[in-house]
Amino acid sequence: MKQRIDIFIFADALGWAIASRRRFAENLLPVRNKCETLLGYSSTCDPTILTGAVPSDHGHFSFFIKAPSESPFSNLRPFGILPEIVAGHHRVRNKVSKFIARRQGYTGYFQLYSVPFSKLPYLDYSEKKDIYEPGGITGGQTTIFEHWQKSGKPWVRSDWRLSDPENIAHARAEIEKGQVELIYLFTAKLDAVMHKYGVDHPEVDAAFDQFEKNLQSLADLASRHYRDVRIHLFSDHGMADVHVCSDLLPRWNKLGLKYGRDYIAVWDSTMARFWFSDETSRTTATAWLAAQPDGEILTDERLAGYGCLFPDRKYGELFYLLPSGSLFVPSFLNQRKVTAMHGYAPEHPDSAAAWMSNADTLPVRSLPGIFPVMKAASEA
Ligand SMILES: [Zn+2]
Repeated sequence: MKQRIDIFIFADALGWAIASRRRFAENLLPVRNKCETLLGYSSTCDPTILTGAVPSDHGHFSFFIKAPSESPFSNLRPFGILPEIVAGHHRVRNKVSKFIARRQGYTGYFQLYSVPFSKLPYLDYSEKKDIYEPGGITGGQTTIFEHWQKSGKPWVRSDWRLSDPENIAHARAEIEKGQVELIYLFTAKLDAVMHKYGVDHPEVDAAFDQFEKNLQSLADLASRHYRDVRIHLFSDHGMADVHVCSDLLPRWNKLGLKYGRDYIAVWDSTMARFWFSDETSRTTATAWLAAQPDGEILTDERLAGYGCLFPDRKYGELFYLLPSGSLFVPSFLNQRKVTAMHGYAPEHPDSAAAWMSNADTLPVRSLPGIFPVMKAASEA
């Protein structure tokens, strides 16, 4: 029998507010606290979890950015004239996404979402490489997996392309072999179910129940093969029910500024990011946005405080953020309303991530604190 195993379980969107209200896995994981998240989405948070670095250092924030010169999507221009009913169809977009990823050699997660084909020739995609593989982090940081590899301890991790049942089955098979000492288990079902049904719904209750059963069963299995079973569960961000749909995008389009000539913008689900061609456009846009009741402009001071002020302005010169529970409909991410969303001000209680463990570890108060615990486990 092996001495010790550390199982690190990532649960996308397992917010602290939701988990603590549900008293989720309280018996199994009694060491638990709120974990501060970051501004942005999983694309911002996950590189921080894997490296311990803040976004302005690891260089990841949001998927779509202004193309520095030639856009990898420039030859998609002909698609721009397709009627929106065809171009907006998710099957069409999934096929085109796969085609682009293959042609461009993208190894990471790539999805066109609802970015209009007419806007793509002005844009680029920031996460071209698989962030879980060596060399995948833009800022050049090594991920936890390279540290685990160097430690000499046997380790495995999930394939984020696979479903939760497949990844859980993989972890169980490794535990049964009794050799592995470090596991990173990736799960995303809670995120998907909550986006679809909202944070409180019978389908969500069922998903939480199933997840808790899976965790307990994993812990039981591990305790048959190891003397010291350490289970650590954490998330990247929380989730909030959507109560308000903002039509800021169609209203913005009536302002008279021309996309591509005066400005470039990316409309994420809860945040719009702008780059301007000249000072007149910038002044017009800033004044107009500041007067809209939907959300707020994020100052550079605030972005810096979030660790999200990128000196090269790669992710935007001006950021406009919606309050928790609001959603741009439409946006470049979704055409229609989504029942629940994340990507709001990190200090909002519904945004916070969670840290839960059955063992005392280094304190984890915010996302960068997860990496040191994973690293310490390989040095124990
Ligand atoms: Zn999500």
